[in-house]
This record gives sequence, C-alpha cells and structure tokens, in this order.
Amino acid sequence: MTRPYNFSAGPATLPEPVLQRAREEMLDWQGSGMSVMEMSHRGKEFLSIAAQAETDIRDLLNIPSDYKVLFLQGGASIQFSMVPLNIPGSSADYINTGSWSKKAIAEAKRLKKVNVAASSEDQNFTTVPERAEWNCNPAAAYLHYTHNETIGGVEFDVIPEVSVPLISDMSSTLLSRPLDVSRFAVIYAGAQKNIGPAGLTIVIVNEAVLGQCAESTPAMLNYQTHANADSMYNTPPTYAWYLAGLVFQWLKGLGGLTAIAEHNQVKAKLLYNFIDQSGFYTNPVEPRYRSWMNVPFILADDGLNERFLSEARQAQLLTLKGHRSVGGMRASIYNAMPLKGVQTLVDFMAEFQRRYG
Ligand SMILES: *Cc1c(COP(=O)(O)O)cnc(C)c1O
Repeated sequence: MTRPYNFSAGPATLPEPVLQRAREEMLDWQGSGMSVMEMSHRGKEFLSIAAQAETDIRDLLNIPSDYKVLFLQGGASIQFSMVPLNIPGSSADYINTGSWSKKAIAEAKRLKKVNVAASSEDQNFTTVPERAEWNCNPAAAYLHYTHNETIGGVEFDVIPEVSVPLISDMSSTLLSRPLDVSRFAVIYAGAQKNIGPAGLTIVIVNEAVLGQCAESTPAMLNYQTHANADSMYNTPPTYAWYLAGLVFQWLKGLGGLTAIAEHNQVKAKLLYNFIDQSGFYTNPVEPRYRSWMNVPFILADDGLNERFLSEARQAQLLTLKGHRSVGGMRASIYNAMPLKGVQTLVDFMAEFQRRYG
C-alpha cells in the first residue's frame, strides 16, 4: 500500500521510515516491555531517549555549548508570552510579516511596549520589509521576527543584522537547512510542522537569557525552571519527544541539514517554476522571499477551487486547501515530503490546467 501525499501545514506529514520504526517499537520499546507512552519520564529508558534526541538536534544544528535546548509544551503560541516574560526591559521591537507575527505582537503588547519596527502589511504580506528601512529602537529588550510565515509563505532569506538580542519564531522552518544558532538569543518552534507530532515545542535559548525573570513569573513560564530541570520540571510530552528524536536520526541518516536543504530547494524550485510558467496558477510572494516550506497559490478561476481539491484527493494528494485567511491553495512541502510527492502534485496541476484552464 502506498500512502497518499499529505501537504498539510501542520500537524504535517512525517517521514515514513519514522512512522514505521514507531510502529515496530509501539508495544515494546527495545525490550523494555513498555511502549514509550507508558514509561516514566524519570526512568532510565526514557532518560536515554531524551538525551539521545538532544544530542542529535545539537549535532544537526551545531548548537553551541552555551545554549540550552528545551523540550516544552504549550506550542509556539506560549512562546509569544514566554519571550517577553523572560527578557527584561520595558519595550521590544517586532517585525510584522504576517499572521504569526501579528499573534506574537498581540501577546507581547500585554507585557511590554511594542515597537513594530517594520511591517509588510501594506503590501499584503507578500514580502519582507527592506532591512535598511527598519525603524529599530537601540534600547529595545530584543527584536522578534517570524523567520517563515507559514500561512503567507514568506521567508527571510538571511538572518537580520540587529544590535539587540535576536528572537525568532522558526516553527515552520527549523531543521529545513543549516542555521547559525549563535546569532540568536532565543529560537523557538512548535514541532508539528517540520520536527515531529504536535504537543512538543523546541526552544533553543542562550544561557545569558536565563535567570532574568521577575519574581512574579510563574515557574512554568520561566526558561530557567526548565533549563535547571532538563525539561523535566513537570511531565514533558514524552511520546512527541521520542518521535522528534526519531526524526532527528532520520535527518542524520540522510546526511544532515546540508543534504536536506538541497533536497528542499529542489522541491521548492520545481513547484515555483511550474507555477510561474503555468499562466494559470499564481504565487504572489516576491521571489527572493518565497518560502521553501509553504507554497500558497491561487487558481486563475476561484470557481474551480472545490473541483481542484476533490480531484486532488482522488489523485492521492491531500490537504491542499489554503488557509482561510488567504484562500486558494497551499502546499506545505516540509522535510518529510519526498520529491516524488511534489512531482506528483505538479503533474496533477498541469493536467488539471489542461482540462479546465
Ligand atoms: C503553527 C505556527 C505557530 C503556532 O504554533 P502552535 O504550536 O499551534 O502554538 C506559530 N508560529 C508559526 C510560524 C507557526 O507556523
């Protein structure tokens, strides 16, 4: 049986070898007599799974030793609050490049004076504001930006140069290519896009950030609490942590982030090139800032959307409906989407255009 290709933005497709391994280990993890789901998070079995996953993500991203890797819950969304709670200072800079930036800004506003240093809202979020035009506050506690806007399909092509601690929401792009972690104070990512199942949030935090919370900060919202406890202050999302660990091993087996980056670039180019030359499908994003992970596109005739989706489903191509705020279609082509899946999509799109375009 071959599985359909699933273009969901998140929770998203996982590598098939990872799912197979999880199935093999479901009832009895490596002779322990337990499913990973049934293990104490403080038992030696799970501690070894947890430690291996951390070692592997450190290897993959080449994370410097003065950074902690935290395996938390609450989604990327709770980081919208944890970042302003953990970094003191009355004001913070934010860059607004789309829906997720806006949510981060809205939460930060509850806790700090927010300076939106740049926004592409007046260009309908189809670009990243020119760095030279950002109106940064040199006294800001930090600058926050969304490296890849999952809904709009807009991605920063470089890490911005700023003079204050840099924070990035990398939910839909972390592990898609090599990254210079040392440029950041905090990187966070909900796992369900490109890392593993929902329920786990990865936070990579420089040790200099730790220990600055106000006394009134709830323990669960304090990075220091989790760093001191190796992410086991309370019960961590054990199964999601284990599965993310299998994904890390899968990535290492493929040759790490340089190899997956090449693969991702080939997939993205194939799809964007097809869209651009089709004369029927369009992607509105300025080419330089097009996401390698999330590719929104619209059909020349909106009235064909339902037909497109239902015929795609019949062709074993799932979850292509665009986000309700954007409309049209969106193909999320994370690490786990094989090139063959993108090729099958392109072939389907060409055939659909031939019949209805
Ligand atoms: C999905 C997503 C979020 C929200 O993640 P949750 O884990 O649902 O809180 C935040 N930012 C970006 C860029 C996302 O893609």
